[in-house]
Amino acid sequence: DAKAAGRDTLRFFDPRMQAVVAARAQLEADMRTGLAAGQFELYYQPKVGHGSIRGAEALLRWRHPARGFVPPSEFIAQAEQSGLILQLGQWVLEEACRQLAQWTGPPLLSQLSVAVNVSPRQFREAGFVAQVLQALAGSGADARRLRLELTEGMLLHDVEGTIDKMVQLRGYGVGFSLDDFGTGYSSLAYLKRLPLHELKIDQGFVRDVLTDPNDAAIARTIVALGTSLGLQVVAEGVETEAQRQFLEKNGCHVWQGYLLSPPLPRERFEALVQEHAAGQT
Ligand code: C2E
Ligand code: MG
Ligand code: MG
Ligand code: MG
Repeated sequence: DAKAAGRDTLRFFDPRMQAVVAARAQLEADMRTGLAAGQFELYYQPKVGHGSIRGAEALLRWRHPARGFVPPSEFIAQAEQSGLILQLGQWVLEEACRQLAQWTGPPLLSQLSVAVNVSPRQFREAGFVAQVLQALAGSGADARRLRLELTEGMLLHDVEGTIDKMVQLRGYGVGFSLDDFGTGYSSLAYLKRLPLHELKIDQGFVRDVLTDPNDAAIARTIVALGTSLGLQVVAEGVETEAQRQFLEKNGCHVWQGYLLSPPLPRERFEALVQEHAAGQT
């Protein structure tokens, strides 16, 4: 067996490795088929600002006939590695823009922004700006209602190229959020150069904000930093009224989380927007 063969032997046919590789290849093949077969769907999680629903974050959902529901944490990384994220990401952009274009009639829905998560690999593609513009033009969606969520890591590879792409899209009205803020490697020097609208406090800091003084200090600092840079600061993963009140008291008035709602299928999201508005009066 492999042990007896010694540690210097190259084990091309290690059955465990082979199984991992086969499982990955199968996952990728299933994603490819699933994309063509319409197994992917966008769910929408409300973003609340000063008591009203201001927008939605589009979150990808995959329902495979045999695998069942597969969460993004189990397929996004593989899609990144294989490059399939390019097609998947394009579909997400187009679908979110189609939805945005449909939310033009009813007064409550016509005010909403839609945020789309962009993967690093997708953002780094030379044709990314054109892809976004095409999704907007193809659907007739208003660029000013589209937000793109980027993460810190992806901004560091090619800072000038990143800023250039962001500035181009900003020129059309597209807004940018920095997702999972505080978990990456942001340098404050870059932060001030990026044409951002919004910082999202990672849910890892929100979770224990009431019990862990360090998390509380970090959350307050992100709010102060964002606010002084003229950015909107959004808290992710708000699950309790006490967390919401803490954030509010510390100057963070925009949040997402299970306290109001998990991500929902389109129809249920639309119903929630109506109910929530009715409950506000
Ligand atoms: P993210 O963009 O930071 O999204 C927030 C995640 O937190 C979502 O998980 C959401 O369902 C979850 N969440 C929201 N409120 C709460 C809460 O109150 N408590 C807790 N515990 N969780 C909450 P989800 O949908 O599983 O997505 C996970 C990650 O997968 C996303 O993190 C994003 O990085 C990635 N992702 C999802 N959809 C897409 C997509 O269309 N494209 C790309 N590139 N990545 C995506
Ligand atoms: Mg996000
Ligand atoms: Mg996040
Ligand atoms: Mg997160």
